[in-house]
Amino acid sequence: MNGSTREPRSEGLFEVVGARAALHYFGALGPDGLSHGYLFTGPAGVGKKTFARGLAQSLLCETPKATLLGYCNHCPGCTLFRAGTHPDFVTSEGTVRIGTTPGSAQHDEELTARDLVRELSLRGYRSAHRVVLLGDVDFATHEAANGLLKFFEEPPRGVVILLTSSAPGTLPETIRSRFVEIGFAPLTSAEVESVLRAGGVDAARAKVAAGASFGSIVRARAVLEGTGEGIRAAAFGWFADAMLGRAPDHSFLQLDDRSLSAADKRALVAEMLEIVRIAARDWATLGVAPDAPLLEPDQRALLERIPPRPAPDIATLLGAIGETSRLAETNVSAGLVVDYLRMQLVSR
Ligand SMILES: [Zn+2]
Repeated sequence: MNGSTREPRSEGLFEVVGARAALHYFGALGPDGLSHGYLFTGPAGVGKKTFARGLAQSLLCETPKATLLGYCNHCPGCTLFRAGTHPDFVTSEGTVRIGTTPGSAQHDEELTARDLVRELSLRGYRSAHRVVLLGDVDFATHEAANGLLKFFEEPPRGVVILLTSSAPGTLPETIRSRFVEIGFAPLTSAEVESVLRAGGVDAARAKVAAGASFGSIVRARAVLEGTGEGIRAAAFGWFADAMLGRAPDHSFLQLDDRSLSAADKRALVAEMLEIVRIAARDWATLGVAPDAPLLEPDQRALLERIPPRPAPDIATLLGAIGETSRLAETNVSAGLVVDYLRMQLVSR
């Protein structure tokens, strides 16, 4: 009877860390249940784009499978996908602008609304699906958003649009409401650790970075790249320089690093703002009660170099930091947010 034993059916590869809600949703979905658009939301660095790429490859894999998630990694579809040359996969990061110069969308940093409209109008070249992945999506103008909206009134057959965003509140409600939204939770410490280990980080450093990561690979990498207490010390130094009217060094925010997405930069600025808030509180405490305990006692000497200011000025300053945090949650660029805060801190 051995001959009649069925070959175990391979469901293909699909390895992601975290993504529990998305795995649950797509795991239960047959090919007919697929919607035309999904919005993956959650903090930066929790695997939204990784999952979206895995889903895209699953849809473009040409090996028959019983499940929606999974790919063989060796068929022509998978080979083209891995080479970044699949004609039915379009991907872009960041802001969708209303543009006048159409260009090749794949590998471009920015996609114009016109590119997008053209890409969405094309039929799949070799596959039943055509997948558009817009990572950390942002729309420069309402016109750019409306250009996309048009397609959801009558979605072209086979097109699946995948958006990821760590700030879904910045997306126009008209766009957001037309996507099936799936949340991505922060990773567990163990999950972050396993990703870092798989990337070649040694066990001890992976454990420390995972512990300080708040479940985000982006934060964990920032911890690893900083020397020890990296960001915290750099943010305190930035605060002191800004308060003293010197040009503060913000290189630790990596604002010019083109390999970091706008969302990654937002996450770093949000972390910096948290630290600046603590620095300002400690400095204000020193002004009224020099012997009072501080939240970050090892930064005392640095803060003592900043002259005290009158109480109303301190209140204004603390208010401005709160205001900057709110600004950082909008789609104002990370660079402008940091510059705004610097101007608020300079003594007047
Ligand atoms: Zn395949």
